[in-house]
Amino acid sequence: ALYETMPLHVCIQRVVSLTESETSRLGHRLVYETSNPGIAVRGDQDKLIQVLLNLVKNALEAMPGQGLVTIRLMEQASRAVIEVSDTGVGIPREELDRIFQPFYTSKEQGTGLGLSICQKIVHDHGGMIEVESEPGAGTTFRITLPLHREGK
Ligand code: ADP
Ligand code: MG
Repeated sequence: ALYETMPLHVCIQRVVSLTESETSRLGHRLVYETSNPGIAVRGDQDKLIQVLLNLVKNALEAMPGQGLVTIRLMEQASRAVIEVSDTGVGIPREELDRIFQPFYTSKEQGTGLGLSICQKIVHDHGGMIEVESEPGAGTTFRITLPLHREGK
């Protein structure tokens, strides 16, 4: 159902299991950390899984050699926060403005649609998506969503 109450922990675990074999095929590692698995939002579970799959896929593609993807779930300032970090090539400062635009890609076989779809889905859920990157060191995408509280 659309906009059910949903523990984000469940979405993330699904994404971890869906990406496990590709992660190890590429020689990377993926770690998921949370101290608060009860964090819930209202949303479309399949769509939020799609967002996280896009972010993990980009992370896996951004790491030459052996890399580490870290997913973190936390509550901050009464919001649900999910971070997807990688130890990849990073994004040059002058490209940061463009990566959410449809069809912007730096990949030969890229569609450039992944992040624009992520942004639309997150906005549809009343949230935001931000990026921080250090070329040569890695990138973190941060999704912030309204928390669901009992009785709301
Ligand atoms: P695509 O993956 O098809 O290129 P996306 O919309 O998913 O399209 O991403 C757009 C661009 O943003 C990528 O081509 C890449 O240049 C940059 N990008 C996205 N995620 C990362 C990341 N984790 N590390 C480095 N660059 C990234
Ligand atoms: Mg992509």
